[in-house]
Amino acid sequence: MSAALLERPTSSDLGALAARLFNEVAERSADVEGVSRPAFSAVETETLQFLLDFARSEGLAAHWDAGRNVVFSLPEHERAERYILVGSHVDSVPRGGNFDGLAGVLAGLMCLVRARRGGVRFAQPVKVIAMRGEESAWFGPCYIGSKALLGVLSEKELVARHKGDGRTLDTHMEAVGIDMTSVRASEPLLDREAVTAYLEVHIEQGPVLIERNLPAAVVSGIRGNFRYKKISCFGEAGHSGAVPLAYRHDPVLAMAELLNGLDVAWHDHVAQGEDLVVTSGMVSTDREKHALSRIPESVEFSLDIRSQDAGMLQTMHDLVRRHAERIERERNVRFDFGDVLWTKPALCSGQIIAGLTRSAEALGLESAVVPSGGGHDAAVFSEAGIPTGMIFIRNRNGSHNPHEAMEIGDFEIATSILYEFLITPQKSGSNKQRKPVPC
Ligand SMILES: [Zn+2]
Repeated sequence: MSAALLERPTSSDLGALAARLFNEVAERSADVEGVSRPAFSAVETETLQFLLDFARSEGLAAHWDAGRNVVFSLPEHERAERYILVGSHVDSVPRGGNFDGLAGVLAGLMCLVRARRGGVRFAQPVKVIAMRGEESAWFGPCYIGSKALLGVLSEKELVARHKGDGRTLDTHMEAVGIDMTSVRASEPLLDREAVTAYLEVHIEQGPVLIERNLPAAVVSGIRGNFRYKKISCFGEAGHSGAVPLAYRHDPVLAMAELLNGLDVAWHDHVAQGEDLVVTSGMVSTDREKHALSRIPESVEFSLDIRSQDAGMLQTMHDLVRRHAERIERERNVRFDFGDVLWTKPALCSGQIIAGLTRSAEALGLESAVVPSGGGHDAAVFSEAGIPTGMIFIRNRNGSHNPHEAMEIGDFEIATSILYEFLITPQKSGSNKQRKPVPC
């Protein structure tokens, strides 16, 4: 790289640098296919160490924090009392893609490198955090690293067992060098009053930016959800040819009627501008007994309903139960819903959404605000009352698989929006969250 470029780096020089870092991390964590960076593992530690060494080679400050995450900053901001925190995670799902999580960490790091090389001052101190353990694939609980930072990792989560070796999360966290006393006592490892805002860049995990031909977008919030892992519907078995309509108690058609009712409501709500997605990802009759010519006596299915609007989730939940009761009466079947799991929506700060939108517009980009269907560490910071913002990067083929495909040019655009935001004085922060924005 020429001396001139070193003095005044453009975002494009940093794109090439980021591409090299993405490749090096991928090589270090390569699996049979894709990458595997397990939560609270040696590979995760090595990835963090690699990033720490890189940051120091750029003249940045970098240190391990109490959660054994790595925190980066300009040297003059290492001891800042109040700061904007930019972060994401370095772990991946097994045989996952390289960009989920890592892109957000490198976006923050590239902003620090750009400011350091160019001698640019941020509007207020900025710290970048590369976190551990966001993915639920290894232990079950998600957002482990950020929950530990904010003192909200539960006892139940700490005894969750690793999918491979069966040892507890607590044991694994201790093994990477975390002093677990505070974590077990639900004491925050981070002074949340010091964090004026939390910002996260992340690849989009859905097709919206591809469909809308946008390289990046500001995120309005993270959808909450309610989930039934296993709903059973019981009817009556019989011969497919011999039992006339009047005597049928078919659980599959009962389930289909319920799902169709939810589908109709979904279309209506979306037409009215509401944010809602409905999925039944697992559906099966009993494999031991099912046959082409047999009316099954039962069917099992899952239900995953998400929205940025907590009221919408409640409305849909009421609808599920109301429809089910009617269908039970009309078809003489019985639904057993089992356990339901609720996750509250996490909304981004209206002021940060507006600030990021202004930053995108200042760069001559078309601004767009989209919801996040997947969960992110940002949800934990938002839940803790810290004003939160997110930027999505266009990404093909979803995430959590080796085929996720982010273009480095799109990464550069998202990083430029973040950089523009960080060097621009923002109006004073507030914890106020704005009303959900329909998708
Ligand atoms: Zn992620």
